[in-house]
Parts: sequence; C-alpha cells; structure tokens
Amino acid sequence: MRSTMMQVPLNLCHFLERAGRLFAGVEIVSRLPDKSLHRSNYGEFYRRSRLLAEALEGAGLRKGDRVATLMWNHYAHFETYFGVIASGGVMHTLNLRLAPEDIGYIANHAQDRVIIVDDVLLPLFEQFKAQTRIERVIVVPLTGKPVPEGYLNYEDFLATATGDWDYPEMDENDPVAMCYTSGTTGRPKGVVYSHRSQVLHSLVQCLPDAVDMSGKDVMLPVVPMFHANAWGIPYAAAMIGCKLVFPGPYLHPDDLLPLFESEKVTVSCGVPTIWLGMAQVIARDRERWRCLAGMRLTVGGAAVPESLIRAFDGFGIEIIQGWGMTETSPIATIAKTTQLQPDITEDERFATMASQGYPLPLVDLRIVGDAGEQPWDGKSVGEIQVHGPWITGSYHDLPHSEDSFTADGWLRTGDVAAVQPLGFVKITDRTKDLIKSGGEWISSVDLENAIMGHPAVAESAVIAVAHPKWSERPLAVVVPKSGASVSAEELRAFLEGRFARWAIPDAFVFVDAIPRTSTGKFLKSRLRDQFRDWSWEPAA
Ligand code: ADP
Repeated sequence: MRSTMMQVPLNLCHFLERAGRLFAGVEIVSRLPDKSLHRSNYGEFYRRSRLLAEALEGAGLRKGDRVATLMWNHYAHFETYFGVIASGGVMHTLNLRLAPEDIGYIANHAQDRVIIVDDVLLPLFEQFKAQTRIERVIVVPLTGKPVPEGYLNYEDFLATATGDWDYPEMDENDPVAMCYTSGTTGRPKGVVYSHRSQVLHSLVQCLPDAVDMSGKDVMLPVVPMFHANAWGIPYAAAMIGCKLVFPGPYLHPDDLLPLFESEKVTVSCGVPTIWLGMAQVIARDRERWRCLAGMRLTVGGAAVPESLIRAFDGFGIEIIQGWGMTETSPIATIAKTTQLQPDITEDERFATMASQGYPLPLVDLRIVGDAGEQPWDGKSVGEIQVHGPWITGSYHDLPHSEDSFTADGWLRTGDVAAVQPLGFVKITDRTKDLIKSGGEWISSVDLENAIMGHPAVAESAVIAVAHPKWSERPLAVVVPKSGASVSAEELRAFLEGRFARWAIPDAFVFVDAIPRTSTGKFLKSRLRDQFRDWSWEPAA
C-alpha cells in the first residue's frame, strides 16, 4: 500500500509566497546607521525579494552560486535571505566582526561570486576583497550617499528586474544558505543548509514548547544575521508573519531598550553577554523599564547564568535558554519545564531554565564518554552527539574532518554534558575549556555562573592555567559591576559550600572587560594566552 499524500518538496520560497499573500501589511522596522527608523512591510519584502531573485538571475547567477552578504540586521539583509534563495543561489552570510583576512579566507573558500554589502561596511570589504573571487559588488545605500564607481547600487540593481518572473526548479535538498563556524575552535568550517533543513527547523522553532513564536509577536533579533542564520528567525518570521524590528548596528542596551519600548517588542534573542549588560541598565531604573514586563528573551550561544535568569524574572521578563551550533541550524535543545515536573519548587524551576534543556522534536541526542554511551542519570558525563534533519553531516569542501563525525553518522559537538532522567542537558564545558586538576575535572561553566551570581559581579570567565603540581588549576577573571567592589577573599567565601574546596579557583583577577569572540561570547582562548605564564607562587 502507498500513502495517498502528495509528494511536495519542502521549499522556503513557499514562506516567501505566504508572507506576500497573507502578511503584506505587517510592519518591518529597521534602524539605519543615522539612527533613523526605516519602515517597510512584508508586502514590500515580498516584492523586493523577488526582484532581487530576478535581477541576480538576469546578472548570470547560476544555480548553487554563492552570494555573500556583509551586512548589519535590517530590511535589505532580510530580502537577501529570500531573494538569493529564490534565484537558486546560496546565501552566504559573512561575519563582519572577524579579522579582514579571516573574512577573505572564508569568502574565498566558499567561492563567493557576488557580494551584497552595506555602504557603511565598504571600508571593511576593501580590506579583504583581493583575497576573494568576487565578480560583482552590490552596495546597499543605507546612508543615501552615492555608491562608489565600479560598484552596483542595490536599488538600481533591483530596478533591472520587471517583476514578471517565476522561480527556477528546486529540490528540497538543494543548498540555500551557508555559514562558517566562527573559528573559536580552529579554522572556520562551512556548513551548508537546505530548504528541507530550514523549513523543518522553522516549524519546530515556533512550537509553544520551543521558542513559542507566533504571528502576534513583535520580534527584535539582536543576534546578528551572520551568526548561524540569526538563529533561524528570518525564516520563521516569514513563515508566521510576525512584525520584525531590526536594530541595525546599534546593540547597546541604551539603544535597544527604547526600541523595545517604542515598537512594543514581545520577543528578542541574543547571546548572554548582551543581556548581562542590559540587566545592569534595567536594575538601575526598574520603574522606567517596567513597560517591558511580559517580554521573552531567547538566549543561547553560551551558558546562561542562573543569576541572569533570576534577575530578568524579577523584571517580569522570561529567559528561554537554547543550545545549538552553526552546525545545528542552530537550535537543538530548549529549556522549558515539562508536565512531568508538576510540583517543582521555585529553585527547581530556575535550575531547569539554567540547563540547556531537552532536545527538540526530530533531534536525537546522546552523551558519549570513554566507556561509550552514558545513561541519562544526571551524573554521567560525556560528549554531546546529535543527529537530525537540520544537523550537518559534513563540512563544505573540507577533507579530513572525519573527527567531527562518528562512524554511525552523528555530529560530535565538542560540548561535554550530563543528561538528567527527564532529558534535560546540563553542559559542563566545551572539551577544550575543561579544567583537569589533580586528575579531577572541574567545570568552568559551573564556576563562572556561580561567580556571576555574586551581587557585585558583572561578568566572569574561568580558565585552566597550567600548574606544576596539579597539572591545571582554575583561574577566575572577574569584572565587578560599575560602582561595586569585591575582593578575592569575598568571592572565595561566596563559593565555599557550593563547590568542593579543590574546585574553587586559586586566583581571582579583576579586569575592566572580558575579551569577546566575533559573536559576542567570552573569548577564553585569549584569556588562556594572557595568563599562560601565570605564577602560582605561593603554590596552591
Ligand atoms: P563557535 O563554535 O565558534 O562558538 P557557534 O556559535 O556555532 O560558534 O557556537 C556553538 C557553541 O556554543 C556550542 O558548541 C556550545 O559550546 C556553545 N553554546 C551554544 N549554546 C549554549 C548554551 N545554551 N549553553 C552553553 N553553551 C552553549
């Protein structure tokens, strides 16, 4: 017997058509470099995305050709998310916070043929263009200034299209977009997404038990559109038609908070460092920001300290932690309480929200240690391995990457965790961040989250530093809150009772700021370099 269902390939262009037909009047707001607000809607987004597709096709783009973007979050970047795909091309978001030579390496490795670049980012492009094989440069005139000689104006380029155009043939497994890992763990590696992977990711991402996004939401993605597909928000937004508010280049709390208020934002997303800063600003004037109560923040990319979740809870704002990677499209787990925890206490609720959560539907997850697959008992620790329709099974054009995958085809994530019986994942570290002291593993994540729970601490990162007797010992780098002060003795006393004595850092170093990665996470490799020659005298 055969199913009687139609065989319909999953296709992101369906979301584009749907957005044009059903959500044309829904607003899309973008902050421009001069801080003014550009107002558009899904009707314009639909029309212009299709014009871009037609213009790219007319300019000779062939199926599978890569079109790079070097852009902030705004309406035109959103158009490229669909316009490039609709033309049969592959949208390749370049991370504008990387060093120019690294962007050049990535654009060359991906064989990008076309680039669409914000006019304000042209000076950055000029620094790496010689490394690439880019033939056509299309400039988005965000400032309204004339586009330099030799480059195409994005608006003029769209004007070469007629609107009388139809989509090319597409298969659900065709490549649609690519993104390189940010290289925190070595040379950047390219991940290539498909219609199928991103349609399924969008559907699951919007579930109430996942990010819980609906058409009634107003979404402001703080996460850059070059960081793992802006966590899938552009695709999901076109599917559900929620109002979008793009922050442009301005990601400081003083810029974001008024935008949250004036545009009535209901949901936002970004890495923990963004919200650590914002919590301090809100705490200084809670009355002023009471209007934000009821908002949700999806937070991921690094572990979310429980103290941060509690702080936002105090402001009436819910934090939803997700875990994932560029390789996983990116969301693979989400932290929400379940019906199997009917009588949990307040503390247990916060502990659940501070875990990385349970796997999303269609994602299989296992923990593998030296002795093989580990039980879900909340104690046994191993590497997280994942498998599913939006998890990459290989890297683009990268021989010898077998180490990243198991013989039975699962992705090795390099994240170390235990899983509780209900399926909640608790990450202790990335493999390379683990601290091994006197033969015992110490979790840097647990320590830094506890230290950030101290009322005088704004940020903390804990790293392993070589030690003559214990092989490695933890060192805590701490940023005090502005106007506050705290001593090493106070922090040591704060941690006593919460951690075994041998797990407490031997040194606390106070700094003004912790270096960030290109996606805003704590850059622990830089700290390890900085403290490589640390002297432990008197020996711990
Ligand atoms: P990079 O690997 O260069 O940092 P990604 O943005 O793809 O680039 O980062 C994926 C990694 O981020 C994961 O492997 C994990 O170590 C970390 N990560 C993501 N979300 C979380 C989370 N909620 N808790 C802890 N770590 C996280």
